[in-house]
Parts: sequence; structure tokens; C-alpha cells
Amino acid sequence: MSKLAIQGGAPAKTKAFPAWPQHDELERRALLEVLESGNWWRSEGDKTAAFERAFADYHQANHGIAVTNGTHAIEVALAALDIRPGDEVIVPNATFVATASAALFAGALPRLVDVRADNFCIDPELAEAAINERSKAIIAVHLGGCPADIDALKSIANKHGIALLEDAAHAHGSEWRGRKVGALGRGGTFSFQASKTMTAGEGGIILSDDDGFERMARSVHDCGRLPGEWFYSHYHYGSNYRLSEWQGAVLLAQLTRLDEQTARRNTNGRLLDHLLSQIAGIKPQRLDSRATRNGHYAYIFHFEPRHFADITRPQFEAALQAEGIPTQPPYPPLHQLDLFQSGAYKHRLSGAQAAEDHAFLRAPFPNSVREFEETIWITQRALLGDEQDMREVAAALQKISENAAELT
Ligand SMILES: *Cc1c(COP(=O)(O)O)cnc(C)c1O
Repeated sequence: MSKLAIQGGAPAKTKAFPAWPQHDELERRALLEVLESGNWWRSEGDKTAAFERAFADYHQANHGIAVTNGTHAIEVALAALDIRPGDEVIVPNATFVATASAALFAGALPRLVDVRADNFCIDPELAEAAINERSKAIIAVHLGGCPADIDALKSIANKHGIALLEDAAHAHGSEWRGRKVGALGRGGTFSFQASKTMTAGEGGIILSDDDGFERMARSVHDCGRLPGEWFYSHYHYGSNYRLSEWQGAVLLAQLTRLDEQTARRNTNGRLLDHLLSQIAGIKPQRLDSRATRNGHYAYIFHFEPRHFADITRPQFEAALQAEGIPTQPPYPPLHQLDLFQSGAYKHRLSGAQAAEDHAFLRAPFPNSVREFEETIWITQRALLGDEQDMREVAAALQKISENAAELT
């Protein structure tokens, strides 16, 4: 094996990885049951409520509120914290735009901070340094499923009297010191969009152990209603973020596979850590020893370009895909997005805050930039394969390492 597949050689990968999404008779029966029951709306059916309960139980959380998607989950969580114009929310710069845009939807400024060089999750020291009198919350993102340093973030949030939220859209089933992530701060949010490790096409949920937060989030997600009160009484600001029974039914079925699939991805991820560490210039995303399980929305590693003939990340990805390994692009650093560069984000801010110069947007954010330019994300379905599949991933990378000069 020497000639790269992208140059016409034989791909390193011979058998196909498992497909995604997965379903079987469980989803089929669940959907038919909803269809024939005539209860297609959560307020009439029992599927979405049962799913909330089951997902919260699995994640060792007291409460779960199912919502339309993972973006809305963050919006509802911020509304439940009463975050408003004039406030600031501390957000890592390497994440999907939703983590920051949800703050903008509340009229608050997302204060972007850089991530750590080793795991590309929010840097707790930089998060603390970004706190000022307007700060109301820190959002930790468990990037790729790898838990952020919850202990450090929680103690910072407590010390300054602000909330810690987890954007756990990548981290279904991930664990920190044996506890599932998602309700380790005031609240946590998940996505069930098609690429995520459980899916109904779209969907989301908010978890929390905090009764007051749960009550507000539930009210916000249902037009400001309160459970048990008359249908046309509305107590709080709210909107309609309710999940349908179709999605609740599919997610109940998906949840039955989550634990086994998470365990498999975690085991394969640790095998890849071992295999890839032996390739010069590759460094797997660092999993803290307190992170007892990684749900692996993706398998992320950093590559040192000089060990790969200075090829770019898109060149690296294209070569890996040609070898038969599915990848997905990393997130561009938020501060580089047009949304922030053009000033369009200010349309959501109130007068005084919109008029300010947000100098932090001109900071270099070196680790978020490395996340974008020098990390490779192997798609989660590849981690559902077997040990042989992982050895073939490593072989593909070894081949690229040996032949990278051909790509320049
Ligand atoms: C997918 C995702 C979201 C948003 O979820 P949607 O269901 O797509 O709205 C939020 N944050 C992160 C980190 C995500 O990956």
C-alpha cells in the first residue's frame, strides 16, 4: 500500500462503515402507533413525555424538556435564565454557530473566548478572565463529545454567581467522573438533528436538576403556559418550541441503542487514540482522565502540517475521504464568520451594547484557528465499526503520512 487513493491507488478501506441514521422495526412500529392513535401532538399523546422522562433518567437528570431542535434548546435555556439585552454570555469560539446565535436571539452579546490547545473545549482560565458585571452565563461545549473541564467551569461560575450551561449537542451519553454530562451545570442542551448520535431528523432537549429553571424552561417552550393551568393563561415570555409525537416516538426507539452505541464509539475512540499516537505529527483530542466516557459525535485529532508536507486541512480531508474514511469539516472560528465580521450580529443587540466596539472580535484566537485549520473530524458512524475498521483508519492515516508530499 503506497499509492494514495486520491492519486488512483487502492483505498485503505475495503469494507463499508455502518450507515447513519439507523432504524429498525422499533421506529417503524412507533411511527405507525402514533399515526393510528390520532394523537400527533404532544399535548394529546404520551410519546414525547415518555421520551423526556427516559432521556433525563438515562442522563441522571431530574428534568427533561423536549424541544424542536438543539438551537432552540439553547434559546429556551437562556430565556429560562432571564438573559436579556445588555447581558453577556461567555461562549467558546470553536463551536457551531448556534451556541452564539442563541445568545443573540436573547439580545445578549456572546463573548467569544478561545479554547484549549489540547481538547479544543472552552479554556476555563480565559472564560474566567472574560467575566464582567454583565456576564450571566458560561456555555461549555463538549466538542465532538469530549467533556469540557466541568469542575473548573462550575467552580468559576459559582464563584462569580453566574450560570453554567452545557451545550451537549455532541455529547449524548458522555460522562464526567462517572456522571452523564448535560445536567452538571444549571442546565444542558442536546440536539437530535440528523448527524447527531441520536436523531429524529430534527429535535432537541433541555436537561436540568434545578426545579425553578425547569419550570421556566417548560413555560418558555410552551408559549408561557404553566403545567396544570388553563390553556389560554400565559404567564411568561414564551414561544412554541414543542416537539411533535412523531419525533418523540422515534427518539424513544433511538434511545434504546444509545448506551451500546456510545460504549462502542468510546472503545473504538480509545483504540484510535492508541493507534494514531504512533503516527508522527498526529495528536488525538485529549480526553481528561476525569472524562470517563466520550460519546464521540466525531473522532477529532490534530495534525502538525510540517509532518505532512504542509498540506492544508481540506487536502488532508480529501485524501482521507478517498481512502474510504468519512470526515466532516471542523467548525470555522466564530469570530471569522460573516455574522461577526460584518457587524450583522449587532442587529440583535440593544442601543448601548450595539454601539460599543467589541475589540475581543479582533483577538487572534490561536487555538480556535488551529481547530479549523489543523484538525480532522472522522464522522461518528465510522466509530460504530469494529476493531478491524479502526486498524484500517490508522492504516489510511499512516499511508497519508508516508505519501503526503505527493499531495503538494
Ligand atoms: C447541532 C448543534 C447545535 C444545534 O442543534 P440543531 O438541532 O441543529 O439546531 C448546537 N450546538 C452544537 C455544538 C451543535 O453541534
